[in-house]
Amino acid sequence: MAVSGIGPYDPQNIFARILRGELPCKKVYEDAYALAFHDIAPKAPVHVLVIPKGAYVSFADFSAKASEAEIAGFIRAVGMVARDLGLDAPGYRLVSNTGAEGGQEVPHFHVHLFGGRALGSMLP
Ligand code: IMP
Repeated sequence: MAVSGIGPYDPQNIFARILRGELPCKKVYEDAYALAFHDIAPKAPVHVLVIPKGAYVSFADFSAKASEAEIAGFIRAVGMVARDLGLDAPGYRLVSNTGAEGGQEVPHFHVHLFGGRALGSMLP
């Protein structure tokens, strides 16, 4: 079921439980601001999720409430993950589903990083 873009943060959501180490993940990167791990149902040869350490429901919530340091740290982490995965040269796609009409399922802000094949120009 899709979720609202901004609402009360549910500390029992799947990604919050991954952050607390209560559920496993295939980790690719972690620092003070972000955790990156492989999507459990990959839609491309590379499909990694990057999530902030802080409790933000969605991009809407994160962009409104996170500190400058959290925002900068998170964006740098996304770029670092893509670079470390060797995606800078071939290219990649970032997606953040936000809220019900954006198709967001997990109510902890995350960026999908897709790569590893030609993704075409289809939007959305
Ligand atoms: P959303 O639709 O943008 O919220 O995407 C949620 C993503 O989380 C989907 O691509 C799911 O496959 C992925 N996902 C759900 N549970 C897990 C998990 O436990 N580990 C890794 N990825 C997950």
